[in-house]
Amino acid sequence: MTDHTHADTLRTPIVAVLGHVDHGKTSLLDKIRGSAVSEGEAGAITQHIGATDIPLSTISGMAGELIDPDDFDLPGLLFIDTPGHHSFSTLRARGGALADIAVLVVDVNDGFQPQTEEAIDILRRTGTPFVVAANKVDTTPGWNPQEGEPIQRSMEAQSERAKSMLDENLYEIIGQLSDAGFSADLYWRVQDFQKNIGVVPLSALTGEGVPDLLTVLMGLSQRFMKEEMAIDVAGPGEGTVLEVKDERGFGATIDTVVYDGVIRNGDTIVVGGQNEPIVTEIRALLQPRPLAEIRTEKQFEKVAEVGAAAGVKIAAPDLDKAMAGAPVRVVRDRSVDEVVEEVKAELAEIEVDTADN
Ligand code: GDP
Repeated sequence: MTDHTHADTLRTPIVAVLGHVDHGKTSLLDKIRGSAVSEGEAGAITQHIGATDIPLSTISGMAGELIDPDDFDLPGLLFIDTPGHHSFSTLRARGGALADIAVLVVDVNDGFQPQTEEAIDILRRTGTPFVVAANKVDTTPGWNPQEGEPIQRSMEAQSERAKSMLDENLYEIIGQLSDAGFSADLYWRVQDFQKNIGVVPLSALTGEGVPDLLTVLMGLSQRFMKEEMAIDVAGPGEGTVLEVKDERGFGATIDTVVYDGVIRNGDTIVVGGQNEPIVTEIRALLQPRPLAEIRTEKQFEKVAEVGAAAGVKIAAPDLDKAMAGAPVRVVRDRSVDEVVEEVKAELAEIEVDTADN
């Protein structure tokens, strides 16, 4: 693990959403963003490039009685916006998974499907802690929707018949998790989240159960990842390329998730490339322009620096051969050669890993 002797702050855990196609990954991310916005407070969420930052205060506003914000000192959750396990499996950080924690979305009626199994295999291989979102509870026949409510409260409002139909589906999923080698239970029955996977029944459509999901993610991160979240905020930035994109006026840019340290405008960086590591100097760090200012022509605004964890678009010369999934490293006060070697070593590790699959 990293040497955290200079650690002086806790970063936001990075969350990925995985699951079978059509089981509701995109809807869930939209709902989380939408509910956070309708929470109303200014700065309820921050839209980054490729990610959404939900601060603890917003989560605790949504979760109501489920959360006591005093129990937490992690700053919130950073959701990677691109759902799906293909992106997840190529997104690495120092040999591990880029995401610190994952949500596996399973349609409560469909149960496990081929891509659910694939996702589980990836989570197991990378040792990523996860929770299961048993989605679409509102499609249970006779369901009486309870917009945005905690799930147990919502379940109390259902008929015996609806409740028992949902229960049957939930136990089916718990059984499938057990067949896959994970002992699981409804999250409120789980006492040791290191031994058991929590299942959160929810609806990405009505938002019921979404407060519970955020609470469980926050709780898991706080309890089991706090040490890994301790970073040197002023250290040289480290990140992973999500996507290489041409932007008018900037040329090839890299959408990057920064998981350690800080990246500043003007920094020299080393980026994994198709043939060899690219050494270049940052011309601009870009974030989406806030919604209120969307009428201006410019889509992005320039920022001076970004600290982990964050998503950011990096504009710099020579990025056209950069690769999605590749490492990004700020050189700062080290030698360029040393950092190039580091990036090469990490790329080799990624290749070995993909060859294994
Ligand atoms: P993805 O492929 O996993 O990203 O799935 P989507 O988010 O695109 O959802 C697939 C379909 O399921 C869409 O038509 C959604 O509107 C619908 N859907 C997703 N979540 C829910 C839910 O909780 N309840 C209901 N009734 N429909 C949902």
